[in-house]
Amino acid sequence: MALYSEQRLMVHNSLSGKKELFEPLHEGYVGMYVCGPTVYSNVHLGNCRTFMSFDMIFRYLRHLGYKVRYVRNITDAGHLEDDADQGEDKIAKKARLEQIEPMEVVQRYTVDFHNILEKFNFLPPSIEPTATGHIVEQIEIIKVILDKGYAYEKNGSVYFDVVKFNSDHEYGKLSGRKLEDMIANTRELTAQDEKKNPQDFALWKRAEPQHIMRWPSPWGEGFPGWHLECTVMSTKYLGETFDIHGGGMDLKFPHHECEIAQAEASNDVSPVRYWLHANMLTLNGKKMAKSTGNNLLPHEIFTGDNPTLSKAYTASVVRFFMMQAHYTSILDLSDDALLAAEKGYNRLMDALDLLGNLNTGKQSDMDVAAWKQRCYDAMNDDFNSPVLIAQLFEAVKTINLVNDGKASLTQEDLAVLTEVMNAFVFDVLGLETRTGAGVESNKLEGVVGLLIELRNAARANKDYATSDRIRDELAAMGIQLKDGKEGTTFSI
Ligand SMILES: [Zn+2]
Repeated sequence: MALYSEQRLMVHNSLSGKKELFEPLHEGYVGMYVCGPTVYSNVHLGNCRTFMSFDMIFRYLRHLGYKVRYVRNITDAGHLEDDADQGEDKIAKKARLEQIEPMEVVQRYTVDFHNILEKFNFLPPSIEPTATGHIVEQIEIIKVILDKGYAYEKNGSVYFDVVKFNSDHEYGKLSGRKLEDMIANTRELTAQDEKKNPQDFALWKRAEPQHIMRWPSPWGEGFPGWHLECTVMSTKYLGETFDIHGGGMDLKFPHHECEIAQAEASNDVSPVRYWLHANMLTLNGKKMAKSTGNNLLPHEIFTGDNPTLSKAYTASVVRFFMMQAHYTSILDLSDDALLAAEKGYNRLMDALDLLGNLNTGKQSDMDVAAWKQRCYDAMNDDFNSPVLIAQLFEAVKTINLVNDGKASLTQEDLAVLTEVMNAFVFDVLGLETRTGAGVESNKLEGVVGLLIELRNAARANKDYATSDRIRDELAAMGIQLKDGKEGTTFSI
């Protein structure tokens, strides 16, 4: 029986503003879409936090036994400098400034994005589609929306008619905004504006002569509006209605609101069952911004090369720091907070290192089954990772007491505790051990432990040829065995 059938996962749905029982459309399967980066600059640490929140959610769903199709896109066209369909395409602008091809910009920053996420031990999504790879599909959906009367063409551009849509649908239901208020609070359109209404948004934009990224369409050469790619790629790979759509809080309006409008206008069904939004990361109590200098890039954390930091931090310490906050809360990063996180992370890893060498007893001083369920309860409560971490530290306390001979655990309980600790620390939170590769390094410990046992058995049989061979071959691979009073340990 899959774990998910024993657990009641509740998620905070931005659409209802409430925590709801998570029930996927198809039992055992979850479709999840997360808005990916616009690849025109190095990935921002705040964005890393958003993607890490969804990586943790992806990991927990998998841990529960769901087969998850996780789609996270790459925006490589159509994202203009401001939300009102004005300004240059962000990627084309960077290409112009650096005098390179737009696709060189895309390639450079996609590689940077992947490198940083790999350092943070992210699981890759199931599909990572690009906007430029789905131009045909975007043109097709524009035709449908035009046919249904929810869009209009003007001078080679196509705009979504928000007022028309709102007359028989509800525009603003995700962000809790009313169209009448939006209209009352915006400026009048000028004679140059092509839109009927300032709230209308571009589905297709005519390419001006200097615009490099352009494709042919029934309305002339142009490029798709930014909101459209997510509607197309999410529904293409996950179906007209799918389970989870995630993204940063800042995307709720207008981006996600527009996604809902486009999908409902073309398919007549609501695209997403659970909308999840991750909150932002601040630095020393203030919003991060390049312009004010209150900014920190991921690679600067790993080198310590930023005035705000006293030293370098590993990716796992940063990940542990981020997991200490609920994904819907604002999290403030500072040097002090990272130092504290490093201490906590080391305490956790110290305890995990002890797990393999604990003596077991006849009775347990900890109710391990109840503790295990409390770990699940924490994650079932809208992926409450800080409460989970508090539970993990309850186990750390017991592990240290058992190690000091001041408490005991039965062999069975120790086995359960070890399994649950490893599952939550490495599989769900995605942390890695201090030597690097999380679960991989755990496996290595297991393999070397087995070789140590075989070597001990050989020595007991006076088969010194075998025992020396094990020691020497491990040494040749850079793994040193050390024989001591407490038995044999190893170092790499
Ligand atoms: Zn999106």
